[in-house]
Parts: sequence; structure tokens; C-alpha cells
Amino acid sequence: MDDEVQMVAKGEAAMPIVTRFAPSPTGWLHLGHAFAALFAQREAEKGRGRFLVRLEDIDVARVRPEYEVALREDLKWLGLRWEEPMRKQSEHFPDYQQALDQLSDLGVLYPCFCTRREIQEEIQRAGNAPQGPDGPLYPGTCRSRSKVEREERMAEGAAYALRLDVTEALKRVPNSLAWEDLSRGVQTADPARFGDVVLARKETPTSYHLAVVVDDAKQGVNLVTRGEDLFEATHVHRLLQELLGLPVPKWHHHRLITDEQGKRLAKRDGAKSLRALRAEGWKPSDVLSAIGW
Ligand code: GLU
Repeated sequence: MDDEVQMVAKGEAAMPIVTRFAPSPTGWLHLGHAFAALFAQREAEKGRGRFLVRLEDIDVARVRPEYEVALREDLKWLGLRWEEPMRKQSEHFPDYQQALDQLSDLGVLYPCFCTRREIQEEIQRAGNAPQGPDGPLYPGTCRSRSKVEREERMAEGAAYALRLDVTEALKRVPNSLAWEDLSRGVQTADPARFGDVVLARKETPTSYHLAVVVDDAKQGVNLVTRGEDLFEATHVHRLLQELLGLPVPKWHHHRLITDEQGKRLAKRDGAKSLRALRAEGWKPSDVLSAIGW
């Protein structure tokens, strides 16, 4: 039997691996990004597949064009090559709107008029609020508002976010949702641990969670590689994929690059950028040894 026949006989389609590196152009890339990008490319190469770079630029207030230019330069300098054109999330808001409409038709979205401060006050009032991976869970203040009240508020022009009603959403999917994680094995998804997440806001008409699952499906990504810090988010992503009828990829959450104190490198903590290291005379090979490649 030749290879192809054998694959079909085993019921497996001969699907090339498609991976992606999905940075946000809201700062300079650092060693952690270098590791994530190289990791994604290596996984694609192993499967003789495709490696994509996607710009997660939905946070229009923080995105700057010079970060995109720099990011391309830094990745090229590291020796990475990807398919053009790069998908830019900011050019695909209609895709996310379509997904929101689909969720709305399923009856699993509701408008939330709470300000951040109101949410905090409500959490304090409630005493020991349940904690999720990203902090205290949304207390559900707007979940039980009547249709009339919602419509009145909207007509008044009140700002609102769209939240996923996770309890309702879970009624519309099979009891047990799982995913295959190449680092930790088969995982059971427990999306309720995040509570009712925000899927869109007025100023950003999609959230990270929604845009990621829509894009991975649109781009045919079948192996999502990313840092361990996003492991928990997969619980929500699995639910969204199921609700939206999207194909389910595999995941490989990889180790994070840390500083001398063992803390994950982050733009906001001023982690040294690849370009600063380059200006100090670093070569791509120095980056590889610094990240233990
Ligand atoms: N844009 C995300 C980040 O920069 C990565 C998203 C993902 O890989 O799912 O952390």
C-alpha cells in the first residue's frame, strides 16, 4: 500500500499541518515572541506544512504601524518566512460580526451595560466572588435584565458590551467537550470557569477569544501553537468553536521564556526587545541560545 492509500485506510485525511504565529503589534517583539514564532514554524516544517503569521491588531488604541514594520523586520532577521498577505484582524471585522450574529441567533449573547467600576463594586458587595483564570468572574448583573429594559437602554444610546451567557451556551453543545493538547494530552473543556466572557465591545467589535477561533478556522489552522499562558483560554475557544460549528484544531501550548527572576517576559514590563538586542550587536544565533533553542 502506498502512503496515501494507507492514510485513507486508517481513516485519516492527508492534511498538511498549518500553524501560525499571532502577535499583536502593540509593542516591540522580545525573546518570548522569537521562541513562539520559531516554535510554530518548526511544527509546520515537521509536518511539511504551512506557517502563517497573523496580526492581532484589534486593539486599535494600542496598535501602532511602526510595530508592524518592526515585527516583519525582526522575524525576517531571525530567518523566518511566512505566506503573504498576512491576515490582519482589523481588516476582518465583518467576519467577527457574522459570528456574533450566529451566536445571537442561538440566544447565547446578552448586552451588558455595566462599567468596569460597577462590576468591581458589585463584586465587593457580593463578598467572596468566584475566581476565574483572569480574576473574579462577572457577577451576572445584566444577564437577567428583561428584553424591554435592554431595548430601552439601547435606544437611549447606552454603551454596552456583548457577553456570552455560558450557562445557556453549555445547553447547546454536547455534555463533554474535549481537546487534544500535544503538551498535556486530552483535556476536558470547562468553559464555565471563565464565566460570561465579553465577546465584543463598542470600541472593539470583537474580543481576542472570538477573533482567534474565527481566524484559525478561516485560515485552516489545524495546529494552534502558543504559550502556556494561553492554555486556560482554550476552554472558552473550544466552546465557541462548537457553538459556531467550526473545525477543531489540535493545540500545543509551549513553555514560556522567563527573565532571571523566573517571570514571564512581557512588553508591559519593558522586556528587552529583539531590536534593542540587535542594536547591542546580538546575532540571530545569540537569540537562539538565549531561548535554549
Ligand atoms: N495575540 C496573542 C498574543 O500576542 C496570541 C494569540 C494566540 O496565539 O492564540 O499573545
